[in-house]
Amino acid sequence: MVDIETFKTLGTALTSIKTISDIAATITNAQLRQELNGKIADLQGAIITARQQMLEMQEKYEQVLEENKQLKMITAPRQKPQMQWGCYRFEGEDGLFCTACYDTKGQKIQTTRLDIDFRRCPVCKAVFGAG
Ligand SMILES: [Zn+2]
Repeated sequence: MVDIETFKTLGTALTSIKTISDIAATITNAQLRQELNGKIADLQGAIITARQQMLEMQEKYEQVLEENKQLKMITAPRQKPQMQWGCYRFEGEDGLFCTACYDTKGQKIQTTRLDIDFRRCPVCKAVFGAG
């Protein structure tokens, strides 16, 4: 994860370089001024590249976090549900859940009542009979 303080420090460094380049502009010795400006540009480039790389790292980090979350969801040991009206019921939880969504994606989707005999999953549209 990108360290915000480091990122800020790099920003401060860029501001300092701007000040230095303002000072360098007042140098009357043309050769010295040119050399300084060259070094200043190198420094600026290096810091901008570093900041860019930090942002890319942050992006990758977030991607990996998201992947990790999904993998955990898929591989987490599943609670053993009980069957009721063709749906799953989980201990200590209200509601009847879609068996297909839970078995394939590990997602607990509450089914909704269609009529007195049937229930339906709002996600995969599976219909569950009371029988
Ligand atoms: Zn479903």
